Amino acid sequence: MITAVRTPDSLAAALGHAAAGGRLMAGGTVVMAQVNSGSPGSPELVSLRRAGIGGISLDGAVARVGATTTLTEVEESAELAFLRGAARSVASPTIRNLATVGGNLFVPQPYGDLAVCLLALDATVEVAGPDGGREVPVEAVLAGGVAPGEVVTAVRLAVPAAGTWFYYKAMRRKLNSAAIVAVAAVVGSAGGVVTSARIALGGVAPRPVRAASAERVLIGRPLSTDVLEEAGRAARADIAPFDDSYASAWYRTRVLPVHLRRAFLGQADPSERA
Ligand SMILES: Cc1cc2nc3c(=O)[nH]c(=O)nc-3n(C[C@H](O)[C@H](O)[C@H](O)COP(=O)(O)OP(=O)(O)OC[C@H]3O[C@@H](n4cnc5c(N)ncnc54)[C@H](O)[C@@H]3O)c2cc1C
Repeated sequence: MITAVRTPDSLAAALGHAAAGGRLMAGGTVVMAQVNSGSPGSPELVSLRRAGIGGISLDGAVARVGATTTLTEVEESAELAFLRGAARSVASPTIRNLATVGGNLFVPQPYGDLAVCLLALDATVEVAGPDGGREVPVEAVLAGGVAPGEVVTAVRLAVPAAGTWFYYKAMRRKLNSAAIVAVAAVVGSAGGVVTSARIALGGVAPRPVRAASAERVLIGRPLSTDVLEEAGRAARADIAPFDDSYASAWYRTRVLPVHLRRAFLGQADPSERA
């Protein structure tokens, strides 16, 4: 049962409440459901909304996105226009008005679509704690979270060059449907062949994963249907799929190559239902 809700108006105050064992909440889209279902946890909620850790800024090609920036703000920002499609693939406008970039790092798959993007982007996470700040690769936060008492304050990412960003999310319907397979990638090419590739997958493992096997298939080759299907089959080595109400592990494994291909070529075959 919740006995207190704190709304600190500074990061320092938020850290104080977090250090005292308060349960962090940003948009609350996940936390409130946990609270309402009686899940165990601290009886004290610490809302980060007024802690001054929101907002988007751009320094050259590097964007800094405050942790409490909502997904609607991402969707509407000119600086992060390349992420518009990914942001819009999350839940519904109502949820996106509340859901935050920081919170998206901590939700289990098949949620965490923005986290999949941040992994593909090789983002850096700024974390504040009782002993000061640190910066960690997003991969580390997705794998291990942050320490008790720590607060994610922002993520930093390099805005990809035009034509190098790819995102595709296969889901059951347009609103409030989690990923069956999500693909986010930054892929550079020259002379018709791939020169660099960083691909992340969602919906196919307990947390977002790199599709390193697929990346290896692509390097030095064209982004053709054949090569992408080979890469999609190779990516099966990188996943640890699960069953849920959206799809079985078997199905996710089976359709992964199709959706990886669609991420790059955008070929939607209406006869393929996913
Ligand atoms: C109906 C519905 C549909 C959804 N569909 C999708 C979907 O399609 N795709 C998707 O990606 N997600 C989906 N979600 C999940 C969720 O809305 C998002 O992932 C959202 O970004 C979580 O952010 P939040 O601010 O609401 O997190 P909260 O619920 O406030 O917090 C989530 C977790 O993150 C921790 N946390 C939050 N902020 C910080 C911080 N700054 N530092 C440290 N820890 C922090 C909290 O302690 C908590 O453990 C859906 C949720 C609902 C209810």
